[in-house]
Amino acid sequence: MNYSAYSIKDLRKGFKKKQFSSEQVVKDCINDIKDDKLNAFITICEDEAISKAKEADKKINEGIELPLLGVPISLKDIYLTKGIKTTAASKVLNNYIPQYSAPAVEKLEESGAIIIGKTNCDAWAHGSSGENSDFGPTENPYLEGYVPGGSSSGSAVSVAKNLCFASMGTDTGGSIRLPASFCNVVGLKPTYGRVSRYGVISMASSLDSIGHFTKNVEESALILSITAGNDPKDGTTLSEKVDDYESYLKKDIKELRVGMPKEYFSDGLDIRIKNLIEQKLRDLEKLGAKIEIISLPNTEHGTECYYIIQPAEVSSNLGRYDEIRYGNGRENFGDEAKRRIMLGTYVLSSGYYDAYYKKAMQVRTLVKKDFDEAFKKVDVIITPVSPTLPWKIGEKVNDPMAMYLSDVYTVNINMAGIPGLSVPAGFVDGLPVGLQILGPHFSEGKLFQVGQAVENL
Ligand code: GLN
Repeated sequence: MNYSAYSIKDLRKGFKKKQFSSEQVVKDCINDIKDDKLNAFITICEDEAISKAKEADKKINEGIELPLLGVPISLKDIYLTKGIKTTAASKVLNNYIPQYSAPAVEKLEESGAIIIGKTNCDAWAHGSSGENSDFGPTENPYLEGYVPGGSSSGSAVSVAKNLCFASMGTDTGGSIRLPASFCNVVGLKPTYGRVSRYGVISMASSLDSIGHFTKNVEESALILSITAGNDPKDGTTLSEKVDDYESYLKKDIKELRVGMPKEYFSDGLDIRIKNLIEQKLRDLEKLGAKIEIISLPNTEHGTECYYIIQPAEVSSNLGRYDEIRYGNGRENFGDEAKRRIMLGTYVLSSGYYDAYYKKAMQVRTLVKKDFDEAFKKVDVIITPVSPTLPWKIGEKVNDPMAMYLSDVYTVNINMAGIPGLSVPAGFVDGLPVGLQILGPHFSEGKLFQVGQAVENL
């Protein structure tokens, strides 16, 4: 059976009306994953998923109500899953079977979700294209031979190709928003500290955000209402009350002040993407939104500083896989991980610390201040997600600088810790384009409100 037209709500209705069982849906999804040629999965949890689906069917028959009961989802292979191999797409962790699951995963399972498999990604979440995986690249579902965006490449593809109904990813500098944009699905990077990072393999701990991919905005709000919240095991999660995200979906956008930062619509942006996003802004204006051109003056320094701070933290986090404590064979680190370890240790070494790391942290504060100032004038900010369309597999692999530049519109959001939502905006030459909505810390509800308006256009 083909579930492409089914939302999570439709699926749950179908379960209740006995049109199909969770077991049947899970088996169909597993068959589709096996037939799929895009290399979206590293591990399929076949036996576990089928037995959990049978349990879910029993609960459905008993009339138990849970928001994701019997719904198959996938996880980027960077989330620890008890008893299920977790590789971070690196051969260094080829045989690693975790002793526990990440709390975000536990929460989803408590809500009835069924983990159908672990998705492919750039190794250690280092990348923008999905090509850095030790298990081979994932392909774009819209055009053969093109990248799906990374690092959460397989997660985006798993939702875009209806291989499951939602997927968890991670976003340190754009790794959810970029693949969401390249695969025509909805991707949320929540506020830093909104969802627990515990049990998710760390990339750069002050930037890592735990978010997800869904087919639509409503489902993005549903998943966040499950995963968000304080976790005593992650000291950076905040005790701020979890909003009623779904209540924002029906609000209109009359009088909403939308900022359009001129630095995000300048020279480096593909003119076709620019036209598409500007058209969406005009459409929102017709619905009563007030569009204002604003400036985020430190934008251009953001990417440089991100590529100092992030490798510094990567070098520290990857130090534990030295084969003495964890990991099997440090010679198994790929080129990109080695590049980041070397760069990171260099910028942290005495003599260079002040010139690079400290300076970059000072600029990070300026980048954050830019957003603080902007949000005194506007409620949300709208930008493109990527300056370019998806590129051909192989095109940028030997040019790390070109690859890093694909992150110019996403990394500053992580530096500031604010939330960002990528929603589909249309197509150029058969390839998807995403639109990014940004708001102040803890404004996810507002992002869903605007995202829903964009989706309804
Ligand atoms: N593309 C960025 C990088 O390579 C972001 C990665 C991420 O968000 N995990 O660092």
